[in-house]
Amino acid sequence: MSARIIDGKAVAATLRAELAARVATLPYQPGLTVILVGDDPASAVYVRSKDRAAKEAGILAQTIRMPADTAQAALLADIARLNADPAVDGILVQLPLPNHIDAQAVIAAIDPAKDVDGFHPINVGALAGGQPGLVPCTPAGVMKLLRHAGANLSGARALVLGRSAIVGRPVAALLLAADATVTIAHSRTRDLAAECRRADILIAAVGRPEMVRGDWIAEGATVIDVGINRLADGRLVGDVAYTECAARAGAITPVPGGVGPMTIACLLENTVEAAIARRG
Ligand code: NDP
Repeated sequence: MSARIIDGKAVAATLRAELAARVATLPYQPGLTVILVGDDPASAVYVRSKDRAAKEAGILAQTIRMPADTAQAALLADIARLNADPAVDGILVQLPLPNHIDAQAVIAAIDPAKDVDGFHPINVGALAGGQPGLVPCTPAGVMKLLRHAGANLSGARALVLGRSAIVGRPVAALLLAADATVTIAHSRTRDLAAECRRADILIAAVGRPEMVRGDWIAEGATVIDVGINRLADGRLVGDVAYTECAARAGAITPVPGGVGPMTIACLLENTVEAAIARRG
């Protein structure tokens, strides 16, 4: 079998176009503010992409850049100001933050209704409890790709490889909400290959280049590769050995061009949803 390629770039482009059309019908411009503390080059690239994509969708986007030695109190004061600003619908603090800042305290200071990253404890709790709330962007993107691929989630055996707060856990909660039978695997899991082989749907979010091998994949399974790993030779690869796994999977995401583009598209969607929820 040769897998169908799930084209995240195309799915994300469609979603972004739909969002732009939706924004154009609103009597106001949804507002997104991104805060970048410090000068981490990768974060700067992400923030620029988010700002550009938001503007293309008709969102009123602004980026606040703060020096790396910004005091936590100053950052919290800015968040309080943005919480109170009626023109701001979404607030995103780019992670990671410098070591002297308590990231959890910063996230907890964001108004949960404006928490477009979906990391606030209230939104995390809502997702864990199966209640509505703002959902983290990468996991939301994973679910959209599964639906686009036509994966039958109800009753399916889903294996989520990785249990981070930003990917593995929320993906597992979303799959459970979609009636999949979910297993979460991690670094202490015994016989990972056997766990993977049982899965109709496999989500890899480990951050280990090409760790998932072809013979770990059940014939016809749907494979979503969240991993983004830069090799020494400069190549970008996922957590899944793509060629081997594509030979057995029914459908698979490439890296790049799979989950990556969905993350920003879902951030824009969260911003529009947050605006509509607040302003009607
Ligand atoms: P984390 O490092 O926070 O979590 C990795 C998880 O993988 C942990 O739960 C860890 O287990 C598990 N793990 C690590 N090594 C092994 C192993 N050898 N066997 C089994 N499990 C293992 O990573 P993230 O969740 O933040 O990110 C995962 C990947 O997704 C990365 O490549 C990252 O770059 C990418 N990513 C992509 C995004 C996108 O937009 N496409 C967005 C966010 C992340 P344990 O908990 O036991 O330590």
